[in-house]
Amino acid sequence: MSATYRQSTVVTKAKLADDLLTPCRLCWRECEVDRKNGELGDCKLGAEIRCYNEFIHYGEEQEIIPTHAVFLSGCNFRCRFCSEWKHVVKVENDPIIKVEALATRIAERQEQGAQTLSFIGGTPDVNMAGILECLCKLAQSPALVWNSNMTWSTQSAPILRGLVDSFVADWKFGNDLCGKKLAGIDEHQSLVPHRILKVAEKTFTIVRHLVMPGHINCCTRPVLQQIRDKAPGIRLNLMDQYQSVPVTSALKSDPLSKSLSAEEFALAEKHALDYGLCLESREPSRSFEVLEIEEKQDSVGFESKITITADGDLVIENLDASMIELANQLAPNDESLQRFKLPSKGPIKELREEEGRDKPSC
Ligand code: SF4
Repeated sequence: MSATYRQSTVVTKAKLADDLLTPCRLCWRECEVDRKNGELGDCKLGAEIRCYNEFIHYGEEQEIIPTHAVFLSGCNFRCRFCSEWKHVVKVENDPIIKVEALATRIAERQEQGAQTLSFIGGTPDVNMAGILECLCKLAQSPALVWNSNMTWSTQSAPILRGLVDSFVADWKFGNDLCGKKLAGIDEHQSLVPHRILKVAEKTFTIVRHLVMPGHINCCTRPVLQQIRDKAPGIRLNLMDQYQSVPVTSALKSDPLSKSLSAEEFALAEKHALDYGLCLESREPSRSFEVLEIEEKQDSVGFESKITITADGDLVIENLDASMIELANQLAPNDESLQRFKLPSKGPIKELREEEGRDKPSC
């Protein structure tokens, strides 16, 4: 993967994104609030960006790792089971970060071995102006991954065109009713699939479909059928990490209050394979020999997590460098971990200390 954009283009795009902040038309909701002057739209964001974590992520898809994952607050969906809920609905609790400081951290992470730069949330669409402003501060253009719910506006679409090297596209719902009931969006079907299929024509795109308990027939199958019919070669990641959260577990009769069963996930995989879809990672364009990994990263408030499922499977979420040694001990025969080794380098500098901050920040 190579960066496809130049800084002069970024400056022009940043100006356009900044113009779309006031009144805000960055995403399809087009709230038209004045974000630069204190008004808040559905995403609850102002003009600044709030970063609640960043680290070099080894747990994303093979094609994009190791990626510098930058987690920004704010979203225009309200998925009831969202794992980032507090960073979506309570953005005011997350620290504002200066774009200069974030750009410095991005450059550091690239030096430490990050091969791509992923903006994640929430969704980066609602933070487009701040992200572009940050990219303007970079001397070099890292390969850019847009990890998104794919809901930019028609006016902001040209900003992403030619800028993004890879989309990681979230496609959860197979019909408008589930989109409305579970995420508060009215027109999911005319909004999300179209954008995914469009960008995939020209840009490497990974579709992530979270398999949700009780939603195989209404969501998983229709999503897979649409992919089969319109983009059968697209890279698909069927995700089995659905977890019920307090919001959903309060509704005992709702299938979403339970975990995804192994049988349901197996059924989802069977449908995908029956439709001839591509679940394997593609051969990456870079060579992945043995990666040198910083022994400690200062990942703030959002940590790697190891859980053991009822079936005895080991699940590692957000695989950062601090977790790799432990993961190797727990699963010494797991081939996917064999290409990582820990180096003898010391920890990276603390951005918080550099800036004399006392609040967690990027
Ligand atoms: S980014 Fe979207 S949700 Fe947020 S204020 Fe702008 S139009 Fe509204």
